Amino acid sequence: MVNDKMVNPIVIAIDGYSSCGKSTIAKALAKFAGYTYVDTGAMYRAIALYTLRNRLTETADIIAALPHILVGFIQVDGEQHVTLNGEDVESQIRTLEVGNQASRISQIREVRAFLVAQQQAMGQAKGIVMDGRDIGTVVFPNAELKLFLTASPEVRAQRRFDELLAKGEKPDFDAVLADVNDRDYRDTHRAESPLRQAEDAVVIDNSLLSREEQMDKIIAIFQNKLNGQMTK
Ligand code: C5P
Repeated sequence: MVNDKMVNPIVIAIDGYSSCGKSTIAKALAKFAGYTYVDTGAMYRAIALYTLRNRLTETADIIAALPHILVGFIQVDGEQHVTLNGEDVESQIRTLEVGNQASRISQIREVRAFLVAQQQAMGQAKGIVMDGRDIGTVVFPNAELKLFLTASPEVRAQRRFDELLAKGEKPDFDAVLADVNDRDYRDTHRAESPLRQAEDAVVIDNSLLSREEQMDKIIAIFQNKLNGQMTK
């Protein structure tokens, strides 16, 4: 039904705070719909990794380096991995250090323009689920379906705390919560494309929802959207 040729593929924009399960939901929805999934946070992280590796701290130096940075995606065992100048850097970008650097370099207007143009090109053929902070507001303001995911800072800190524990680390809950709050502050207060809810976004607070409940809700919203399209 979803892949029926009568149904035109749409653009699905998913935005929200850090650690609220955006990528898990976006991946599952893309799989359900048969759409391409794009993790824009991974693109900011890849640039962050480049700046750390090359010890670029000045904004002017980071901007000057952009023409030398090629960010891409490859499929490895059915999973999407991000590449930096052809190198698979998926495992290197998932650290706290790179996450914090991504949050810093994403405040630079030129960095955002550089990635936004690539993201818009990826969505030209539609049939895409893209997640990030500015997808429904800046990258695809005309997306047919916009979701805004949220959960309380304590719930998100607990999820991240559990992930770190599972990785064998010994996290401190208060430090994890402080990091969640700091990142929220930077994401919502930066001058360039701050995280905000698009007026036409469907807001989903998943603090009290299981992953299955949330997925059922989102699939129902997606199917309603396609049904609406067919009756137009
Ligand atoms: O989503 P993720 O935690 O991987 O993103 C890393 C950082 O990149 C975020 O903290 C945010 O500051 C930035 N980002 C952004 N715009 C996006 C995606 C991510 O500014 N579309």
